[in-house]
Amino acid sequence: MEQTLSIIKPDAVAKNVVGQILARFEAADLRIAATKKTRLSRVDAEAFYAIHAERPFFKDLVDFMISGPVVVTVLEGNDAMAKNRDLMGATNPAEAEAGTIRADFADSIDANAVHGSDSVENAKIEIAFFFAEREIY
Ligand code: GDP
Repeated sequence: MEQTLSIIKPDAVAKNVVGQILARFEAADLRIAATKKTRLSRVDAEAFYAIHAERPFFKDLVDFMISGPVVVTVLEGNDAMAKNRDLMGATNPAEAEAGTIRADFADSIDANAVHGSDSVENAKIEIAFFFAEREIY
């Protein structure tokens, strides 16, 4: 069974829509294999997004991700990575398809409600960043 990592970002946690977003995963036949609420340190966020370190928006991205708590979830199911990306919608909520999480809950390209792994390979790395094997069922 494929697994992927979702992060409900600080904007969506502050809006109190964690349950609504998790319900969308379940409605799409994705199972919650692990979940927790946590707050990233600057070092955590910089390491997690290291791939974007040279991008002009890197500091804004890190500042935003540490601005409040997040909810990190391992999703499991058939085609979990691609399915989660479909549920999320485009990175820029202004371009996200109607009915997607970002169209419904995101305000801007920074405050865009959710993160999702963009490949099965990255999903494995991202899951290991947040969870021990014994926390995933
Ligand atoms: P994602 O996989 O859809 O989350 O998008 P990316 O992996 O390309 O980018 C990671 C995160 O960086 C996005 O979710 C955005 O919050 C942010 N981001 C990406 N591109 C831009 C940009 O052009 N400007 C700003 N301000 N933020 C961006």
